[in-house]
Amino acid sequence: MTAMLPQAAPMRRIARYRAEVDAAMARVLDGGTAIGGEAVAAFETAFAAFCGVSHAIGCGNGTDALVLALRAAGIGPGDEVITVALTAHGTAQAIRLVGATPVFVEIDAATCTMDPAAAAAAVTTRTAAIVPVHLYGRMADIPALTALAARNGLFLLEDCAQAHGARVAGRQAGSWGHAAAFSFYPTKNLGGVGDGGAVVTSDAGLAARLRAQTSYGWTDAQRISTVVAGNSRLDSLQAAILLALLPYLKEGNAERQAIAAALHAGIGAAVSLPPWDDGAVWHQFVIAHPARDRLAESLARRGIGTAIHYTPPLHLQPAFRRDGQTPLPVTERLSAEVLSLPIQPEVAGPATRAIIDAVLEGAAECAR
Ligand SMILES: *Cc1c(COP(=O)(O)O)cnc(C)c1O
Repeated sequence: MTAMLPQAAPMRRIARYRAEVDAAMARVLDGGTAIGGEAVAAFETAFAAFCGVSHAIGCGNGTDALVLALRAAGIGPGDEVITVALTAHGTAQAIRLVGATPVFVEIDAATCTMDPAAAAAAVTTRTAAIVPVHLYGRMADIPALTALAARNGLFLLEDCAQAHGARVAGRQAGSWGHAAAFSFYPTKNLGGVGDGGAVVTSDAGLAARLRAQTSYGWTDAQRISTVVAGNSRLDSLQAAILLALLPYLKEGNAERQAIAAALHAGIGAAVSLPPWDDGAVWHQFVIAHPARDRLAESLARRGIGTAIHYTPPLHLQPAFRRDGQTPLPVTERLSAEVLSLPIQPEVAGPATRAIIDAVLEGAAECAR
């Protein structure tokens, strides 16, 4: 009985870069600041530059990043926000948390990202924003969605929690929308040792309102609360760790791309594969199969851990169900068929051949 290969093991990445992480933490512990300070400012500057935008504002996590961006844009009760239902819960929770209504639209069956035609058909007089998700590390059709938002005067917020470094048409994830939300949850392509998030934007006014949203509505050093806001900050320790890991993000993404290419070539037509995309950063490598649960069991028997991202889809979950929501057959089918293989370089890198063999054998078993 061989040990089970986990679907993801983020602490293995910390182990790989342990010297850099230790040095970064020591600088904070030896310095004079536990909240804010040099580490946070340096990370924000470096991350904004990485994304090709003017401002990055650190915050507590990716869900908060979405909430802060929607609040700073003035979106709240009475507003509809168009998004997708095959995504992490934080995407729709953020919309609900600001008091707005998530309107779930259909996804493209191949890419699993927002269908721009479905988004266009869902625009009403109450629509205030669109939140597309660059799911599994693949950019949504953001050129079309940018045009749709511009045509209708809508706030475009990219959910980039799975897309650090992804590109389309030569432009980076996070540089298309009015703002973009990132998560640094440990499993993300850039992940810390705990929770963390950031909003990026090139709009200086929005950046100032975002900054106020992270600290009690303060807009300047006078510490005057100008708007209602809570507290959601990126810790100095976490910022220092992320700053130490950021230089290795490109290398990690390239490793993910190489593993994805090998999985693509090796698995072939045995299961439905995610379409190839040169700009994707493969946060997940997600196959689809009508007998998904049996395939997962059969992979587990061969020592390969898998995960399901995501089921049930959000429009069918108690917190998000609403009257008038149209059925989403593509989303519902994919939610029942998707299966995430290991793709994290520290996990899947040494095991790529074993993963391919297990999928080929498992698919043959499920076909019988
Ligand atoms: C991880 C994730 C979030 C939420 O980020 P947290 O840091 O866990 O709050 C939101 N959207 C997507 C698409 C995610 O993958």
